[in-house]
Amino acid sequence: EGCVRFEDVSFAYEAARPILQGLSFEVPAGKTVAVVGPSGAGKSTLARLLYRFYDVGGGRITIDGQDIRQVTQASLRQAIGIVPQDTVLFNDTVEYNIAYGRPGASRAEVEAAARAARIHDFIAATPKGYATVVGERGLKLSGGEKQRVAIARTLLKNPPILIFDEATSALDSANERAIQAELKSAAQGKTALVIAHRLSTVVDAHRILVMEQGRIVEQGTHAELLALQ
Ligand code: ADP
Ligand code: ADP
Repeated sequence: EGCVRFEDVSFAYEAARPILQGLSFEVPAGKTVAVVGPSGAGKSTLARLLYRFYDVGGGRITIDGQDIRQVTQASLRQAIGIVPQDTVLFNDTVEYNIAYGRPGASRAEVEAAARAARIHDFIAATPKGYATVVGERGLKLSGGEKQRVAIARTLLKNPPILIFDEATSALDSANERAIQAELKSAAQGKTALVIAHRLSTVVDAHRILVMEQGRIVEQGTHAELLALQ
């Protein structure tokens, strides 16, 4: 359950400038497929299409054979968790921001997710803890801390399909390694689309797609791609 397919997908933000062209690939249920490639290749765009921030221009995206345009937004977003590159948090409490993906989660569950994302100690050390409001007059979070709140939100939501869009890019290398390990265990047995900058962070992916200018130019396992270089 959770097989994702892109079938001849094309997309443009502006009519005159195609971004994705004839993109076809599959993420088999329960497997991790990684996408690497230079900045501007269209990796984030592909992630946004799967989460339906935008609709495809041509072709289709299916989950278990069903076109995602035929699924309600609510059930699509229950099935998919995304950790975007630039997280925008709500001007609300830390607890609300983490529990957003799973309303009704208990404080203990929120704290466990925050622990896994390594943000708990920081939150607990603030005067109002999880009740602190994030934002201008409340808790100022660094880029890395915001990213860890977004990771905690996704871990708590625990969806069958995961999208990590350079999910650890704002972290220092020690935190990056720790959280990558955490994300890897979260992705065990799930369908995962992992966007990465470096090939070395996606060594164990089932398959790696190399994108350039909106197209897949190479694909294979880590070993196969290394052999090409
Ligand atoms: P990557 O994730 O590989 O760096 P993106 O998917 O972010 O690539 O971007 C692909 C192309 O789409 C880039 O040329 C970028 O400038 C353009 N782009 C991204 N987001 C938008 C947007 N919201 N409106 C217009 N163009 C965009
Ligand atoms: P929903 O409310 O439908 O669950 P959200 O708008 O809360 O979806 O988005 C979920 C996550 O995706 C949030 O972390 C948010 O920061 C991020 N996000 C929202 N809009 C975009 C976008 N256009 N591109 C990339 N990420 C986004």
